Amino acid sequence: MDGLELLYRGSLRSCNYHCSYCPFSKHRRSEQELRKDRAQWEHFVQTLEKRTKGLQACTLMVVPYGEALIHPWYWEGLAYASRLSEIQAAGAQTNLSFGAEESLKTFRQRGGHMEKLRLWGTFHPEMVSVDEFVKKCRQLRDAGVNLCAGAVGVPAHLRLLKELREKLPKEIYLWINRMDGLRRSYTPEEAEAFTKIDPYFQRELSILPADSGQCQNRLFVEGNGKLRICNISRTLDLEWEQYSAGYKNVCSATCRQKSCSCYLAYGGRQNFMNEILFGPHPIFRIPRRAKAVFLDIMGTLFPKKNTGREHIPGWVRAGLEGLHRDGILLFFATTLPYEEARKRCREIWHLFSGGVFAGGSHMVLEEAGGRWELVRKLPEESLSVLETFGKHCQYRIRSYRVRGTLCKLTMLHPVSADDRDGTNWDVTEQEKLREMLERKGICKVRVLAEDRCLQLLPEEAVKAEGVRVLCRRLRISPSDTIAAGDSAEDEEMKMLCGCKGE
Ligand code: SF4
Repeated sequence: MDGLELLYRGSLRSCNYHCSYCPFSKHRRSEQELRKDRAQWEHFVQTLEKRTKGLQACTLMVVPYGEALIHPWYWEGLAYASRLSEIQAAGAQTNLSFGAEESLKTFRQRGGHMEKLRLWGTFHPEMVSVDEFVKKCRQLRDAGVNLCAGAVGVPAHLRLLKELREKLPKEIYLWINRMDGLRRSYTPEEAEAFTKIDPYFQRELSILPADSGQCQNRLFVEGNGKLRICNISRTLDLEWEQYSAGYKNVCSATCRQKSCSCYLAYGGRQNFMNEILFGPHPIFRIPRRAKAVFLDIMGTLFPKKNTGREHIPGWVRAGLEGLHRDGILLFFATTLPYEEARKRCREIWHLFSGGVFAGGSHMVLEEAGGRWELVRKLPEESLSVLETFGKHCQYRIRSYRVRGTLCKLTMLHPVSADDRDGTNWDVTEQEKLREMLERKGICKVRVLAEDRCLQLLPEEAVKAEGVRVLCRRLRISPSDTIAAGDSAEDEEMKMLCGCKGE
């Protein structure tokens, strides 16, 4: 996500549903309240229209208390917002009880861009039957609306939610939210049953420690102009009017939370897992469903500086397990050799179907019929050149072979990389090594510097090329895949994956 993610909640507190567990179902709607809410919403949309360039807003989601989309002015406002070129996605949380035909007509008549519209539809079993809800989802899908559906994980509703999953079209994701008022943990059987309905339910159960560094591009705006970073963070000493007029000082704000306890909080954080699962606007919870996912290891699955004994963070693991359950192929894309990757990632190894190893010189695909491999060869003479290059400094050299074939050489700098990003190896040293290789007639070799490691790889060994090879083997287009990584080496791979036209 390149721009600002805005969540908006007006002063609306009323709902046309009357679910027994919901505080807003008892709230009596008044004309005065509606007038106030409408005026706030229209004012907010106007500031968006006037200041959209300065704001760099790209996502707008209405997250009301009560039901907003039964009021036509919310559809009008969403239409206006979707017309702004900077806004890439606009939508709302809703119980889907609005009249679809009239509402979409209003949206279209106001020039709304259907391809930008996103709906998050919550199923309320006390108010609507499974069949009615499924019918509405189908109607919206057929009208070209992007939507997800979901419900609270009430154990007593398990049978109904299973039925909902069975009846909903497969492409509509059904999420399950952890039930806050349960006052006990889910039993393993309940957790397993909900995970069968929603492959990502384990994300709801794993605790994600707060890190407002991942929330610098988001704002929660209230109808009265008060601002927060997200729906559960503290109120900021800054109001929407000041912020939208150009006074921006949100980046350094902290949320004062210990953890991100609900989807609206953790689903809007800028991290690779959100983007892999739910695309550039993860807050709408509509899965991207790539055919394959390629993941760098050091700095992505694990923090960059680590001892090798750390565990994969729970939120990463829950996301990977969800992808695996959802039938999405997982691959590593790493400069680590196969054996080292296997050792570090032993807890999640079974979820993966192989990968691009040793920086692209070794590709592995574990298929039902057995293992397929491709090894790119590094000229043997490269080793003696590297030994000569490092002889005065006593740097350690490691060579990596696959069944005897040399595919990568690494020279380890004796000094640990400091906390800065970058490498211990300066450009002059890398150039010197290239010249030495050329003098020996070794040209088809790549020199790659990463942290402490100076690596020699076969010329064609790059991660992006490794991804192409595996995609060809799988008969899928790289445009149907997605990748995550944190180094310059990963950029080409990320550009390739998910890019249309490949
Ligand atoms: S609580 Fe909200 S602001 Fe804080 S880290 Fe979590 S999502 Fe971000």
